[in-house]
Amino acid sequence: MALIVQKFGGTSVGSAERIAAVAQRVATTRAAGHDVVVVVSAMSGETDRLLGLARAVSPRPEPRELDVLLATGEQVTIALLAMSLIGNGLPARSYTGAQVRILTDTVHGKARITGIDGERIRRDLAESRVVVVAGFQGVDESGDITTLGRGGSDTTAVALAAALGADECQIYTDVAGVYTTDPRIVPEARRLDRITCEEMLELASMGAKVLQIRSVEFARKYNVKLRVLSSFEDGPGTLITPEEDAMEQPLISGVAYNRDEAKLTVVGVPDRPGIAFSILGPIADANIEVDMIVQNTGLDGTTDFTFTVHRNEFDRAMEILRRTAADLGAREVTGDNRIVKISLVGVGMRSHAGIASRMFGALADETINIQMISTSEIKISIVVDEKYLELGVRALHSAFGLGQNDLAS
Ligand code: ADP
Ligand code: ASP
Ligand code: MG
Repeated sequence: MALIVQKFGGTSVGSAERIAAVAQRVATTRAAGHDVVVVVSAMSGETDRLLGLARAVSPRPEPRELDVLLATGEQVTIALLAMSLIGNGLPARSYTGAQVRILTDTVHGKARITGIDGERIRRDLAESRVVVVAGFQGVDESGDITTLGRGGSDTTAVALAAALGADECQIYTDVAGVYTTDPRIVPEARRLDRITCEEMLELASMGAKVLQIRSVEFARKYNVKLRVLSSFEDGPGTLITPEEDAMEQPLISGVAYNRDEAKLTVVGVPDRPGIAFSILGPIADANIEVDMIVQNTGLDGTTDFTFTVHRNEFDRAMEILRRTAADLGAREVTGDNRIVKISLVGVGMRSHAGIASRMFGALADETINIQMISTSEIKISIVVDEKYLELGVRALHSAFGLGQNDLAS
């Protein structure tokens, strides 16, 4: 008998019928003799709907209140799933994050889990109940509700699996596992039987939202056996493996994209020491995270400085940058929030030359203009106009032979 944590995302609990199907799947696992802790997200579209309501009453909703609001989405699904399980004759109990003491820091909207008290869950399991826990939410020291950031239910599931010493954490979603790229954009994308934590972390941080980054970090840190599967069809899914289990590393594991970025440029700033600090200091002080940075020096002794931020922070960052630019005597400030970042990820890249030029060649063949480039040991990212997203992802996917047919040939 094993202890299994099963997490079901938004589309997997998107309707009464889907919730009944989840109850069925849980019942099957129980019937096989396993203990089950279930983590659920809000019904699909619900978190966005709540966000829309919040913005309709306030352009910048107070973070504490926003978390109180957003946490209601998951509270609906835990109750519905528990009812459905009980209706099927399976004893079950639902819990909010606060009830099972998923303790977090106080950073509303992107809180980090600091501890979980598994006592109550263990007692229920010992009494043969299925435990249903709300994903995405926790509680801080003073008892305030917090949320873990978009996609945070994945992290709740892995953190619970770690805290309870579960044998496996299964993430059920609307695709059959982790693919070489988003199968909704590239139908030829190939499901991976296994992927290392390191590569999954890189794909997730480059935008592949199939797993929230922090869930992979937790899995790595606490050695949780993590698997991504479809809740719509049976199949082996994708196993996320520790590095040492990896067989020969593939050159490229996947292509990820991120639509959430925006680009800001300050043109014609005097080129002198301390300029980067003067530009990015006020942005950091406003708690805005910067992703890519490019600086270019012109012949006239001035420099152009470009960086990207989350699209949600674009307006605020522009406001700050305009003020800084005026102080520095810069020529102009421009911004563009219709860009995307596309990244090629692969641990095998470390030991191979020529990946970048093959990548740029593939984009050139499609006459896609590259606006920014950044590289690390195991990834290359580019920024392009958002109209090239699909074309760019497809071009790279096929240039590196990642598709189903490519593999066979
Ligand atoms: P859930 O609601 O179950 O948490 P998400 O929408 O958060 O589901 O994540 C699943 C989605 O991730 C898929 O529908 C797919 O479009 C997208 N995705 C992006 N990149 C990948 C990838 N490399 N492999 C699988 N899915 C991916
Ligand atoms: N409901 C939350 C979201 O939409 C958390 C999750 O789905 O994991 O981001
Ligand atoms: Mg998700």
